[in-house]
Amino acid sequence: MLYFLMRFPPVKRLRFNEALEGQFIEFYNKESLVQLRTAAVVGMVLYLVFGLNDLIVHPEYKGPLLLIRYALVSPFLISVILYLFFGRSYLLRHIFFVMGIILTGIGISLSIFITNDPRQFYYSGLTLLTLFAYTVSGLRLKFASIASLFIIGIFVLLGVFFRNLPPSAIFNDLFGLFSVNIMGIFACYLMERAKRKEFLYKREIELDKMALEEANAQLRYLSYHDTLTGIYNRRAFDEHLRKEWQRAIRFGYPLSLIMMDIDDFKKFNDSKGHIAGDRILKEIATVIKTMVNRPGDIGARYGGEEFVVLLVGTAKEGAVYLAEEILKMIGELSISHPESDRGMVTVSVGCTTVIPEPEEGVESFIKKADEALYRAKTEGKNRVCYLD
Ligand code: GH3
Ligand code: MG
Ligand code: MG
Repeated sequence: MLYFLMRFPPVKRLRFNEALEGQFIEFYNKESLVQLRTAAVVGMVLYLVFGLNDLIVHPEYKGPLLLIRYALVSPFLISVILYLFFGRSYLLRHIFFVMGIILTGIGISLSIFITNDPRQFYYSGLTLLTLFAYTVSGLRLKFASIASLFIIGIFVLLGVFFRNLPPSAIFNDLFGLFSVNIMGIFACYLMERAKRKEFLYKREIELDKMALEEANAQLRYLSYHDTLTGIYNRRAFDEHLRKEWQRAIRFGYPLSLIMMDIDDFKKFNDSKGHIAGDRILKEIATVIKTMVNRPGDIGARYGGEEFVVLLVGTAKEGAVYLAEEILKMIGELSISHPESDRGMVTVSVGCTTVIPEPEEGVESFIKKADEALYRAKTEGKNRVCYLD
């Protein structure tokens, strides 16, 4: 019946594709755990209290009825509840829960069989149990319908077949349970579908959030890095310098600035082309990247063919040493530059050091390094010039 209901055009199948279904089950298991536990405890309490009913309605059978309720069914229900709270497997939780419902159904059907009362006091217990399985339990339709199918089967066996009921009573009983099942399936189907929609909706939001975070990270990367060379750009350098400047004022340590500019780069571009020029920029950036790696230090592309290096807590000697090293390494690249007097690509380097004071700004620091660079150019390029 469930199968045909699922094939009925307005009824959407309760199943996603393979990958999504697994994620949904995980989501559902987590979401429904509280409901499963609450329903089990409430159902159990009601079941225990119904013992009063045994005493009032059928005192003559109270022995076997109470035995079924408190010695057969209740201990198992308590075990199920304990597993729901302390067990780990989601699947076992559902299987035990379904078994708890089935055993309760067996208990009620046994009571119907034992009392063999045409007034059918226990029959309503079965309908209540079926509705419990489909609605408040929080079980998925698959599990709820398995439990309900068993309830019908057991009832047919114990409550109908072995009691030799007349056909009219059989019809009445089965039609009642059948109708409760239809209602239950309908309710359970709608609830599961709503849960599936909620899952899709939340997943979409999650994916949107991830895409947004990724885009933000990319944007942040792009806004702080030079696209051609991959090293930090001027914005990153300026922000970093301002921060380190304040820190150096607070702690009183020196900052050194190295500013370098490729010699005769325009001529290089003119003779070898812009693409070759770009390659030089990348190679020089790589040299800077390998040379500058202490925490707090930063190397960046400052402008077209100008690079800067900020050295934190480094005085004149260290700065000049590093500047000379960079100059040497670029020389060792031995990139031919026929239009240059030196025959290869070189850089000029300006260098300065300061212990920042609160009344000073970074501008004079940069200006001093720029002056040193200008001096290196005027003194013949391919050299380091230090200015205090
Ligand atoms: P100097 O030795 O005095 O520094 O001379 P120069 O030719 O290097 O200096 P100038 O300022 O006259 O020219 C800088 C050149 O750098 C101009 C431009 O073609 C080149 N340049 C700037 N940015 C880029 C870039 O991204 N890629 C390439 N290929 N060239 C660039
Ligand atoms: Mg320049
Ligand atoms: Mg230049």
